[in-house]
Amino acid sequence: MTITPEREAELLASVPTGLLIDGEWRDASDGGTFDVHDPATGKVLATLASATSEDALAALDAADAAQGQWALTPARERSNILRRAFDLINERAEDFALLMTLEMGKPLAEARGEVTYGNEFLRWFSEEAVRDYGRYLTTPEGKNKILVQNKPVGPCLLITPWNFPLAMATRKVGPAIAAGCTMVLKPAKLTPLTSQLFAATLLEAGLPAGVLNVVSGKSASSISGPVMADPRLRKVSFTGSTPVGKRLLKDAADNVLRTSMELGGNAPFLVFDDADLDKAVEGAMAAKMRNMGEACTAANRFLVQDTVAEEFTRKFAEAMSSLTPGRGTEEASTVGPLIDSGARDDVHALVSDAVAAGAVAVTGGEPLAGDGYFYAPTVLGGVPNDAEILREEIFGPVAPVTTFSTEEEAIALANASEYGLASYLFTSDYARMFRVAEQIEFGMVGFNAGVISNAAAPFGGVKQSGLGREGGSEGIAEYSTVQYIGIADPYAK
Ligand code: NAD
Repeated sequence: MTITPEREAELLASVPTGLLIDGEWRDASDGGTFDVHDPATGKVLATLASATSEDALAALDAADAAQGQWALTPARERSNILRRAFDLINERAEDFALLMTLEMGKPLAEARGEVTYGNEFLRWFSEEAVRDYGRYLTTPEGKNKILVQNKPVGPCLLITPWNFPLAMATRKVGPAIAAGCTMVLKPAKLTPLTSQLFAATLLEAGLPAGVLNVVSGKSASSISGPVMADPRLRKVSFTGSTPVGKRLLKDAADNVLRTSMELGGNAPFLVFDDADLDKAVEGAMAAKMRNMGEACTAANRFLVQDTVAEEFTRKFAEAMSSLTPGRGTEEASTVGPLIDSGARDDVHALVSDAVAAGAVAVTGGEPLAGDGYFYAPTVLGGVPNDAEILREEIFGPVAPVTTFSTEEEAIALANASEYGLASYLFTSDYARMFRVAEQIEFGMVGFNAGVISNAAAPFGGVKQSGLGREGGSEGIAEYSTVQYIGIADPYAK
C-alpha cells in the first residue's frame, strides 16, 4: 500500500495533542507546547501540549483519586478492558504502525512487527490479571494460619524511551492495569504520538478516568521530579539509559519507592566454529539490525571463533550491504534513519575511533548524504578488544567483529562489561549451550536465535542493565505487593 501525504495527514490529525489527566485531554497549564519531528525528513509532524510540574502533579492527583476504586474493580473487568484494547489495536494495526514509522523512523514492516509484539502484552496481561494467586498454609508449629494475598502497589510513574514507542508502553501499562495500579505515563519527547493514540484506545476500551494519565513534555525532570517527591507515588518503572536510571534510583530512595529499571545493554553475540554459519548470519542480522540497531537488546559485540571469523565476517558484510536505506514509509526501505543528528554523530564517532585503532570497515563506515539521519549499515573487522566501540552501547547499524580461540576466553570477553541484558550464542553443541548460559552474566540468552523478546518471557537484565522483569509471570509481580495476614489458631479454646 502506498502511503500518501493525505493518509499521513489524516492519521496525524486523529492523534490527541493534549495531556491526558483524569480522562480529559487538556492544554498545559502554561499553554506550552513542543514539536515532534519525522527523523527521515526533519519536518514537524505534530505539536503537543508540554506538561509543567503543576500538570504532572494534577496527573498524580487523578491517579491517586482513582486508585481506591480501581484496586477494588474485579480482575475480570480489568482483564476485559485489556482484551478489548488488544482487539482495537489489532483493528488499527496499520495506523499504529504508520504512526511509529513517522515519529521514530523504523521501516513499516518493522513497525508492524512492533504492533504485534507490543500488543501481545495487553493480551498476555489480560490473561494474567485473573490468575494472580495468593496462598494459605498452616504454620510449621501446626496451630496458626498464614494467608498471603497480592495487592496493587499503588500509583505508579512509568517513564518510557523513544525506540519502541508502543511496546515500551504496553509492557508497563498492561501489567499495571492487570494488577490494579493507577498510572502517570511520561513518554519520551521524541516519540510521544504512539502513546497518545494508545491512551485514547484504552479509554475507548473502557478504562476509567484517572487510571491512566499521560503527560509528555519538553523537560523530563520537571515532570518526574515533583511526582517522585510526592508521598502518594508508590512506584517508578523506567526504561531508558543507565545514567538516567541511576539518577532515578537515587531520587526513588527518598520515599523508598518500588522500582523497576530496564536500562542499557551491550549484548555479546558469540559464534562458535560448530555453528551453522548461515543461520548465525541470519541471527546476526536480526540481533543487530532490528530497529536500525537502536535497541537495548542489539548485538553490540560480535565475538567469533578465530577459525570461522573470516567466513562469518564476509557473509555478514554481504548481508549488511544488501540492505536498502530509505524513509520507513517506502516499501523498499529495510533500514530507516537514526533518531536525530546527535545519535548519528555519536555512532560515527565510535566507528572513527575504532578505525583509528586498527579496525577495518568491511562495508559501510560513513553517514549517508541527503535528508534524514541515515547511517550506512557497517561491519567492522579486526576490532581491538580495548576499542571504545566494544564498551559503549552503539545504538546504530554498526557491527564490530572481534575473535576468540577458546570457550573460556569467549565467556570472559562476553562478561567483560558492566551491562548484562541480552546475549546471543550460536553453536550446534547443546552441552556448550548449558555451560555458556550458566557462566554468562546476562539476564537473557538467545540460543541460535537473534530475536528473543516475547510477552510470555521475563525480559530484563543483571548488573547495570537493571532491576526487575517485564513480561512473563514475573511482569505482574512488579506491580503487586504482598500482604500477609496471620490468623490465630482456630482450635484454640
Ligand atoms: P533516556 O534515558 O535518555 O530517556 C528515557 C526516558 O527517560 C525518556 O522518557 C526521557 O524523557 C526520560 N528522562 C531523561 N532524563 C530524565 C531525567 N533526568 N529524569 C526523568 N526522566 C528522564 O533513554 P533513551 O535515549 O530514550 O532510550 C535509549 C536507552 O534506553 C538506551 O540506553 C537503551 O538501551 C535503553 N533501553 C532499554 C530497554 C530495556 O528494556 N532494558 C529497552 C529500550 C531501551
